[in-house]
Amino acid sequence: KGVKVTHLSQLASVGQIAAGIAHEVKNPLTAVKGFLQLLKEKNEKQYIEIAQTELDNAIGILQNLLHVSKPDLEDEPFESIDLAVELESVSQLFQDQLYRVTLEKRLDQPGHLVMGKRNQLKKAFFNLLKNAFEAIPDEGRITIDYSADENFVTIVIKDNGVGIPKQKMDLLGTPFFSTKSNGTGMGLTLVFSVVYQHNGVINVESEEHVGTTFTMTFPKETGLIKRKEVQRLELEMPEY
Ligand code: ADP
Ligand code: MG
Repeated sequence: KGVKVTHLSQLASVGQIAAGIAHEVKNPLTAVKGFLQLLKEKNEKQYIEIAQTELDNAIGILQNLLHVSKPDLEDEPFESIDLAVELESVSQLFQDQLYRVTLEKRLDQPGHLVMGKRNQLKKAFFNLLKNAFEAIPDEGRITIDYSADENFVTIVIKDNGVGIPKQKMDLLGTPFFSTKSNGTGMGLTLVFSVVYQHNGVINVESEEHVGTTFTMTFPKETGLIKRKEVQRLELEMPEY
């Protein structure tokens, strides 16, 4: 009964996504249908209002999904980003949790740049940290590790929370997969989508009652430039 490692370099399959949407949207639409039937029988305003609320729910679910699958692609430019700085700023949002959780940050390697969409990356870090805090019911510890080498930046977010059962590991990142009563199941979907868009790789290791570790690796700006230069050199090769 060891630690399971799953490689999550891709988004959940289309089939899984479709099943998730179908399941989530069916409930509010079924409710609307029921209330329309009631409306036909008795003409009461309250049923119209409930039907409207349920339609709003269905629309909200679809909007969530659209946002995650195509997140602000147009409005946000790629820019040079120091991910250590962004992690520091996002971690500040959890100040109110520090009375119960020790947050250990190792972010003291500044100056390594990644080409990225700042807000998307911050949202991804926020969701991973939020999950880590939510995984710790009372007291515990979360560490954020940041390191860089010549080509890659690596971020490790580790918690000693409840962990993830082996049989649930493959569901991570599937839209609407949540084990929380108030969860949306969209957090990791967004995280995986953002990592994927930045040519990154994300891995998760988890063991029940021990904790969970998410590891993300992003290519550095220099790495990308090198890759582009290689492509250009290839394009400039004369053809015979
Ligand atoms: P939500 O947080 O709304 O449930 P997420 O997509 O963020 O949705 O996470 C999906 C599920 O993955 C969670 O409900 C939880 O079961 C599991 N999970 C994610 N991160 C962790 C973690 N750090 N520790 C334990 N379980 C986790
Ligand atoms: Mg979450």
